[in-house]
Amino acid sequence: MKFIADIMVGKLARYLRMAGNDVLYINNISDDEILKIAKSEGRIVLTRDSLMLLRKPFKNNSIKSVFIMDDRVIKQLKQIKNDLRIPLKPNLIRCLECNTELSKAQKENLKDKVPPYVYKTHKDFLHCPKCDKYYWRGTHYDNINNTFKLINTTKPDGI
Ligand SMILES: [Zn+2]
Repeated sequence: MKFIADIMVGKLARYLRMAGNDVLYINNISDDEILKIAKSEGRIVLTRDSLMLLRKPFKNNSIKSVFIMDDRVIKQLKQIKNDLRIPLKPNLIRCLECNTELSKAQKENLKDKVPPYVYKTHKDFLHCPKCDKYYWRGTHYDNINNTFKLINTTKPDGI
């Protein structure tokens, strides 16, 4: 499943990427452009804009959409999980900034590129070829893990 997120659900886009999902999120993009990309790339539109959903491609179902009901990201993730029945768990395979697929990085080359403590305590690193950013499963990853646990263990209507 591939997605395109509107400007109001940027945080949700990031969390869905953390679970390995392909989510486009482009600043300053018009509704027309969102529709065009959704159609040509077969992406599901994630939006909080009920007016946008009145447009024809949504009405005749040529573009699929999810109307995001809550403004809290945990609730939003629960909605995605329940509505689309997709598993949501941390899966570090995409750049959280730009959605590009990450590739394995050689640790030897990273000595000057990541903090010394991180270099010492981690062995697996990933790299985004587009924004030249490095990723590893550090403390931030633990926080992500906890967030996803919250989504997966509590009842659909509670936090
Ligand atoms: Zn990137």
